[in-house]
Amino acid sequence: MNEFKALLQKDDPFLRPSRLGSHNFPGIWTAMMPRELFGLQIPEERRATCMNCPKASHEGFRADYRCCTYHPRVANFLLGLALETPVGERVLDNIMDRGMLIPEGMHYAPAQWVDYLDDLQSDAFGRSEKVLCPNLDQSTGYCNIHAFRNAVCSTFFCYKDHGDAGEGFWDQLQVLGSQVEMALGQWALEQAGFDLDRYFKAFDQLGRNIHKASGQQGWQDSARELLWGDWLGREKELMRACAAVIVRERENLWEIANSQPIRESARFDKAMVKAVPKRLEDQIDPEDLEDSGGDTVRPSVIWQDVLKAYWKLWYLPEGTFALSGKVRIESNPRQSPHDQFYQDKPYMIFYYPRKGSKVMDWTLGITAAEKAVLDLFAGKSRELDANLLMNPAVKALENGKGFLAEMLRRKVLVA
Ligand code: SF4
Ligand code: SF4
Repeated sequence: MNEFKALLQKDDPFLRPSRLGSHNFPGIWTAMMPRELFGLQIPEERRATCMNCPKASHEGFRADYRCCTYHPRVANFLLGLALETPVGERVLDNIMDRGMLIPEGMHYAPAQWVDYLDDLQSDAFGRSEKVLCPNLDQSTGYCNIHAFRNAVCSTFFCYKDHGDAGEGFWDQLQVLGSQVEMALGQWALEQAGFDLDRYFKAFDQLGRNIHKASGQQGWQDSARELLWGDWLGREKELMRACAAVIVRERENLWEIANSQPIRESARFDKAMVKAVPKRLEDQIDPEDLEDSGGDTVRPSVIWQDVLKAYWKLWYLPEGTFALSGKVRIESNPRQSPHDQFYQDKPYMIFYYPRKGSKVMDWTLGITAAEKAVLDLFAGKSRELDANLLMNPAVKALENGKGFLAEMLRRKVLVA
């Protein structure tokens, strides 16, 4: 543990969030992801206003947990880093109390996964009583491991500024981050002296009697004994040891993630899928039923997919475009909490599912300068060409081209 502390720098960037566009990401992303990521123009995601959550205001999500009615997998080294924060011990105790800690990190047990599928089946995501992330501080609504959360939590935005193109980008980034986390987590275990062969054999053994492996309170004691081996009782020590080797190799993490083959507990996973009650089978991703069998995709290959999805966010297509008939732009009424969230924005876009509809699909606060750009398209089709980009209204925006791309993807401007 002292060695771990000695490896940490003063005000270590791994112990605080890093900035990617206007978002906070785990500090370790600065080292475990490609450097070029931090040069990209990241979507702002102005509509996922988490601490004034539109899903809680308008769609019945719990105001305390919102979309954290979910059990994320959090890699061992991220939890080891979290142990260096004032709430770290409490975080790990909460995870262990829920029976969700295994050597790879926080990982739901089979019965807890079935609870999640049950929530999906009954449309209870966001409203769940039983699938609640142990890392959420109920008194504040904040995530206790915000600077150490996993790639799924880091890249999840319920609404996307760029619609489907935004979804494509965040999904790819999530796949990349998850793959890197998994590779580094397994590499760290090996480096810390943990026997990975024995661990995956233990999963095979558990898969033979999957119903005995877990209950609503997580992994059963007998399963934990098998998975932890002689590390049982020293769980936090292993999390710290994993974090220590990651910190020690901070300059080489991307290369390590690209060289480490990811091992899977395929037999166990298959047994878990087969044990799902029939009534919930529709909620299983068909890919979960397939034998993965082959090699996992290297992060460097996934990174190319991230870049392809990225370019789809920002390109301006040929053709003429006008303001959609489903859109109204009005002064911000500043009445509801949602309007007030945009109190520095004098105008609102109101988007309806169809022309003349009384029910709104979504709203977004915009500046007077942004409204002036949209006014160029009111009742008039325009080409997205150099003339438009030179228009004083577009030039007045810090990133006029980006704003136009966003309005296209959101179908505010249509052909
Ligand atoms: S991502 Fe969406 S649902 Fe989740 S807290 Fe943020 S605004 Fe709410
Ligand atoms: S780890 Fe944090 S962000 Fe992720 S589900 Fe839990 S509380 Fe929410």
